Amino acid sequence: MLYYILGILAVVVVHLITYLKCYENGIKVNWLHMWMSAGFSCYMVYIVEYLHNNVIENGIGLAKLAVMFIPAGLFMPIIYKRFKYFLMNILYVLCVGGLIGVLQYINCHKFNPLNIVFELFGVLIGYIFTMIVNEISPEFRKRCVIKKRKKQIRYLSFEAETLALLVFILFFAGAMVERISGRDIEKQKGAVVYEHEDEYKDIYYADKDKYDRYDAYAKLHPDMKLEDVVWRVDANLDQEFYDEAYTTMADANTKSPLLINKFNRVSEDYEPEKLVSIEGDYVATPETTTAYHELINDLEDLGMKIYVVSSYRSVEYQRNLHNYYLKSDTPEEVDTYSSRAGYSEHHTGRALDISQVRGNLNAFEGSDEAAWVYENAYKYGFIVRYMDNEIDVTGYIFEPWHITYVGKEIAQTMHDEGITTLEEYVVKYVDHKKP
Ligand SMILES: [Zn+2]
Repeated sequence: MLYYILGILAVVVVHLITYLKCYENGIKVNWLHMWMSAGFSCYMVYIVEYLHNNVIENGIGLAKLAVMFIPAGLFMPIIYKRFKYFLMNILYVLCVGGLIGVLQYINCHKFNPLNIVFELFGVLIGYIFTMIVNEISPEFRKRCVIKKRKKQIRYLSFEAETLALLVFILFFAGAMVERISGRDIEKQKGAVVYEHEDEYKDIYYADKDKYDRYDAYAKLHPDMKLEDVVWRVDANLDQEFYDEAYTTMADANTKSPLLINKFNRVSEDYEPEKLVSIEGDYVATPETTTAYHELINDLEDLGMKIYVVSSYRSVEYQRNLHNYYLKSDTPEEVDTYSSRAGYSEHHTGRALDISQVRGNLNAFEGSDEAAWVYENAYKYGFIVRYMDNEIDVTGYIFEPWHITYVGKEIAQTMHDEGITTLEEYVVKYVDHKKP
């Protein structure tokens, strides 16, 4: 916004200088002055654009320059004697603005109406000054003209032409430098024009600085809906799991949900605020414990029983466990079922592994107990954290036995909205506010 205000100010100042210079010297404002002012204004917009976006969106420098000068050079002298300044200005806007618009569209496949608005604004200001100088105070101008000798006036108009030529050379040089440095067309296309930009604008959890990543991910997954592309990229799923550049240290004080996955870890010495016994020697947070006891009570009423197989684990414990698995499986295999130290949900005291057979997780899949937990866990504030077919998102194979306490409200929302992973929920409800 600041840059746009500066741009408008610059347009005003350029016109002010041009017209006041004419006024001061008693010269009637002519097409050359207007041409110069409008040309300057265009370049002000150009510079403002660059400051604002770091790239020039609207057309290419050299061609923009050409469309700026050619219509002025060709048409203005022809119509100068027949039309009033106002009509000339309108024609100028149509020629320059229109051509820049077309060029911009050809170049970037998009059109920024702001461009024309800026030029229209510049010319409008110019017209107001023309009125002031030429129409409102004609007597004052006459008096100035009389004072000046004819020779001087000729000299001044020569000066204006020289200035115009200088400006042209300067612009031309600038455009050439831009072209030679190769920054122009390629960079514009890469940095500013996104394939699905318009669609991203309608997705409330799409972040502007990730448009390039969305496009890249969409290209890799042509059948995926853009809504899904966006939240997946927001969850860093376009990156390699455990990439440190995308890893965040989770805030241990987070009430819920506390997202722990292959991009969100806890510190080495992390320990939940409070842990209580959930079953025998197994400990978990008090909220998890209360909710779990509710769950097993209802389950037992139906004649079923489940046991805790694993609950809270320290980072050190997880390291030993992970290393133990590495003795028999490759690191790639182990990563699909055991998290690295610091990245396990079990560190939080909110995750439980359960089974109807003591100490045997693999027996759980396909059991009546598993089916019931799958259907009803949300009512108690739990989610089945590593669902079937979600390995792309969670990084883990299907673990029907691993449930995580997130609280009833979140579990209910996920259930109602058909959200199957905490990753998706956090993007849509925590990191971004649903409108
Ligand atoms: Zn687990």
